[in-house]
Amino acid sequence: MLDLENRSIMYLPGVGPQKADILKKDAHIVSFGDMLYYFPYKYVDRSRFYKVCEVDGNMAFIQMKGKILYFDVVGEGRKKRLVGKFSDGTGVIDLVWFKGLSYVLDKIYPGKEYIVFGKPTEFGGTYNIAHPDIDPVELADKVANGLIPYYNTSERMKKAFLNSRAIQNIQYTILNTIQWKLPETLPDYLLQQIKMMSFPEAIKNIHFPESLEKLNQAQLRLKFDELFYIQLHLIQVGNYRRFKLKGIPFPVVGDYFNTFYKEYLPFELTSAQKRVVREIRSDLGSGRQMNRLIQGDVGSGKTLVALLSMLLALDNHCQACMMAPTEILATQHYATISKFLKEMNVQIALLTGSTKRKDREKILPAIANGHIQIVIGTHALIEDTVSFSSLGLAVIDEQHRFGVEQRSRLWTKGHIVPHVMIMTATPIPRTLAMTLYGDLDVSVIDELPPGRKPIQTVHRYDNRSAELYDFLKKEIQKGHQIYVVYPLIEGNERLDYKNLEDGFKIFKEVFSEYTVCMVHGKMKPADKEAEMRKFVSGKAQILVSTTVIEVGVDVPNASVMVIQSAERFGLSQLHQLRGRVGRGAEQSYCILVSSYKLSNETRKRLEIMVGTNNGFEIAEADLRMRGHGDLEGTLQSGDGLDLKIADLGSDGQILQYARDMAEIILNKDPDLLSETNGILNERLKILFSKKTNWGLIS
Ligand code: ADP
Ligand code: MG
Repeated sequence: MLDLENRSIMYLPGVGPQKADILKKDAHIVSFGDMLYYFPYKYVDRSRFYKVCEVDGNMAFIQMKGKILYFDVVGEGRKKRLVGKFSDGTGVIDLVWFKGLSYVLDKIYPGKEYIVFGKPTEFGGTYNIAHPDIDPVELADKVANGLIPYYNTSERMKKAFLNSRAIQNIQYTILNTIQWKLPETLPDYLLQQIKMMSFPEAIKNIHFPESLEKLNQAQLRLKFDELFYIQLHLIQVGNYRRFKLKGIPFPVVGDYFNTFYKEYLPFELTSAQKRVVREIRSDLGSGRQMNRLIQGDVGSGKTLVALLSMLLALDNHCQACMMAPTEILATQHYATISKFLKEMNVQIALLTGSTKRKDREKILPAIANGHIQIVIGTHALIEDTVSFSSLGLAVIDEQHRFGVEQRSRLWTKGHIVPHVMIMTATPIPRTLAMTLYGDLDVSVIDELPPGRKPIQTVHRYDNRSAELYDFLKKEIQKGHQIYVVYPLIEGNERLDYKNLEDGFKIFKEVFSEYTVCMVHGKMKPADKEAEMRKFVSGKAQILVSTTVIEVGVDVPNASVMVIQSAERFGLSQLHQLRGRVGRGAEQSYCILVSSYKLSNETRKRLEIMVGTNNGFEIAEADLRMRGHGDLEGTLQSGDGLDLKIADLGSDGQILQYARDMAEIILNKDPDLLSETNGILNERLKILFSKKTNWGLIS
């Protein structure tokens, strides 16, 4: 056994404790395995030498072979720089250094032949290369040989001489130490079927590409590897739940469900809602534990689906709970559900962080003895003090995702594992859903309740506010209400709060004959509630806020969403915000206000918003534009989705292929017990035992 995961890089020649420490802190590299999985983020082709006379201003990094004719120090003080006149006989180009002048003068000799590598830029009609890499031609084999990998390095790493090239050297040392022998990670039969490069060759070529073609093959193989094992793991976990874990059987559709459905349901369910309720009913009746993700765009009516499911739990003598990510949202759910059920005899409680001690002392025992049937709350629900008498269904409304850990804690709330239903309003592109929720069954509510008019979205520049105010006044005169949202972005809070306060003042002035209220995250919960209530009750016509309303309230009378500094929001966040309006029968509007100066990407984002109301299209576009790493509202810290090479935005096909392969294998050999599949079991253990088990979502 090579045991790559347990051999520390600290003892490698050229590393040592200090560098090892920095590598650990800045790049999470501890073991041989970690280092070999630290892949370059780009490659530069150094297979070709350019001539000085070929240089133009549009080139990427290039290399040339030639001599420095002479050095010249020009400028004074901060403008002081060293210029080396470099020539290969076809022309002369300036090499420029602003720092380390004496080092260069000491090491680089005019008249000697060098390889120079850098990016040419144009300045005052001539070309120059600032801070080029310079190597003596004798080292050509080493430095100018084909594709050169570039590794991410932090400032601290660079200072400790751990630059990109040093990382590549360490890769070389490791591979030499293990004599370039790496274990294959896939069974033979699979490798033959997928016809990809072997694992050892892929690792070698990812760090030391022999050719562009080999590099492409290596990347494909490693992406497949990564995605395949995630899928194998998720499908296994999912199967385990589906087939091995006993769920509380809910065989009965009884009075609670039927009475509500027949007598109190205020409208007909959409056919999508009906379909999803059927899917849930069949899960709950199966005797297996349900783990279902309900995806539906904002306003698609998930709450009602959750309520019907909770009533099924009650029909089968179980309790149900619903966990929301914020207090406002929990309170709103509580109000909505209490209203739906007001004619029925159902005991409902609200439990949040700000539930008073006196109330808490009444509620907790009533949950424990089963008197309270439905509990709605925030993560206060998963505190140790909360214990259920018979929790049968946990609904998790995660417009923003709960951490894996938080979710799993609901498991322990009953003697048996409750059924779990996760509702998400962030439309998740298929590739991402497959990876994040690959172990769950998925239902999609892909239809909005009838009578909704599509929201009209427009983009306006912030220097035309007079027109905006006129428009808003007309809407208010029709009896409608208006949201005005300001960004609040980490690292910029002080300024953001100032903008919010300034904005509030302006709106109060311009709309002095109306009531304007304000909500933001720094307010005391009681004040926040009070301001919010003004808007919900219709007393205030305009609500100025930070994004706290994003996950919030349902005010059907609100017809306009104004998003200030829209250029600073991500696509899915803009879409979430827009979803706050358009809930009534009236025409609604979303107005994206931005400054005049926009980057191409930002302009594109706003165009997408103006162009479509479809949450899934937006999520796909978001994923494509930003990569999965920071797909906001979907991925937050703690998700543990730490992909080293695959990119969910562009590797959808590889992902699908990897999932298909994993499915075929697990269909034949569910526990991977056959001899040929032993290697899969081994690898799963290495990959998924040490990390938090994020596959075990609920
Ligand atoms: P979501 O949580 O999916 O964003 P909600 O559950 O808050 O959406 O529903 C949005 C609004 O639509 C609510 O006012 C709700 O009462 C209403 N609604 C839900 N289902 C229907 C339906 N089938 N017909 C008409 N209105 C509905
Ligand atoms: Mg909702």
